[in-house]
Amino acid sequence: MIFCGKKANYQFPFKFQNQKLDHVSSFKYLGLTFNFNGNFKVGIKLLKDQARKAMMSLLRKSRQLDLPIKTQLELFQTLVTPILTYSCEVWGYTGIEIIETLQLEFCKYLLHLKKSTPNCMVYGETGQYPLYIYWTKACNECSKADNYSLFKMNFHYESYLDKLPNCYKIALTKFRTSNHKLPIEKGRYTNLPKYERVCTKCNLNRVGDEFHFLLECPALAEIREKFIPPHFRQHPNFFKYSNLMTTPNRKKLLNLGKFVAEGFKLYK
Ligand SMILES: [Zn+2]
Repeated sequence: MIFCGKKANYQFPFKFQNQKLDHVSSFKYLGLTFNFNGNFKVGIKLLKDQARKAMMSLLRKSRQLDLPIKTQLELFQTLVTPILTYSCEVWGYTGIEIIETLQLEFCKYLLHLKKSTPNCMVYGETGQYPLYIYWTKACNECSKADNYSLFKMNFHYESYLDKLPNCYKIALTKFRTSNHKLPIEKGRYTNLPKYERVCTKCNLNRVGDEFHFLLECPALAEIREKFIPPHFRQHPNFFKYSNLMTTPNRKKLLNLGKFVAEGFKLYK
């Protein structure tokens, strides 16, 4: 292989011990595929394909063994990241974002989230992204993360992911990351201005956002009484909302998950 910007001129053959050497446009050397034009795109794609195979096998095994999310994230770092970053000392100056995309895909799959969920929230829930400053900046710039930034103050793994049974955990993750069908999200699809995305289940004429759903909407009063402590229900404000969303108390979290799962049924 001759490295050059365009196809090389092969009219002068190379010989080794009197044997004519083949001309190839790419060659795998020590596990990394080099391309004739010096571009690592093909090599990186092959690494990503291999890593994806490892990721799918990890997901299959984890499902069989019913592993906790935290363990699965650790296994991803141990089993998949080394494949993705293989020889990145050579190519890392160009395509490092491929690590991010596969890791994000993995996290969204684990948390049962839509592909369109903003990355900053996925990083925030799993505590997977090491660049804290970048995360804060992304959250501030992401209009979809308005609700998220009301309660997510620190960048760390969310312990509720370990504390709740699957169905409530999934409902709560969806609620926290705006993967739901409340008016505030539905209005986004039709480009409705935010103030016009009002709740259709009551006549308070308030924006149908997460706060309204959790602490305000009279349509959910019955289940709210069942699952949300009186302190939060009476005179609700954003401070109480944030406190409830960040509670480490297992029972409160469980009830919060139950409330959200029940409440979502109204918005099917
Ligand atoms: Zn309402």
